[in-house]
Amino acid sequence: MTILVDMDDTIEQLLQAWVEGVNREYRCNVKYEDVAEWDVSAAFPGLTREQVYAIPMRQGFWKTVKPFPGAADALRRLVDAGHELLIVTATQFESVPEKINGFLFEHFPFLRPDQVIITSKKQRIRGDILIDDGVHNLEGGDYIKILMTAPHNQNYNAEANGMIRVHCWTEIEEVIASVAASS
Ligand SMILES: [Mg+2]
Repeated sequence: MTILVDMDDTIEQLLQAWVEGVNREYRCNVKYEDVAEWDVSAAFPGLTREQVYAIPMRQGFWKTVKPFPGAADALRRLVDAGHELLIVTATQFESVPEKINGFLFEHFPFLRPDQVIITSKKQRIRGDILIDDGVHNLEGGDYIKILMTAPHNQNYNAEANGMIRVHCWTEIEEVIASVAASS
């Protein structure tokens, strides 16, 4: 199968590092769990959107982001099992050197540059499965939809919208194995 995999908050913990970075910079005390909307700045009512969104663009920010536990091992097993793996990420062009050349290839060294697609229009990419925490990337897509749980999507009714909600990479591997077995 062709498996499309989101990057932010699917294989790494961007939001955690982002909230911590904003808290440090502006002496706030917002908890990761309190980010209830896709727009992270909504969790920081005292700050402007520009202030909040500037943090992940700072030089060195990606050194503070951690991979999701088990993500690298799981992706490697999927490749070894013969699946085609494509990272599909809606990334700001300016953050490519740190985020893709730095973070991604450092923590996922078995991935090649030609397995990375940068786009915010994920529905235009063909694949059998998309794993993503952004419901707007899954809605309307012509793929099996695996929703990675994040604080901003926890109240979303995944099942009613044809998605399979998961919480970790062990669960994701189980879902993919059952899809592969039934296809
Ligand atoms: Mg994401």
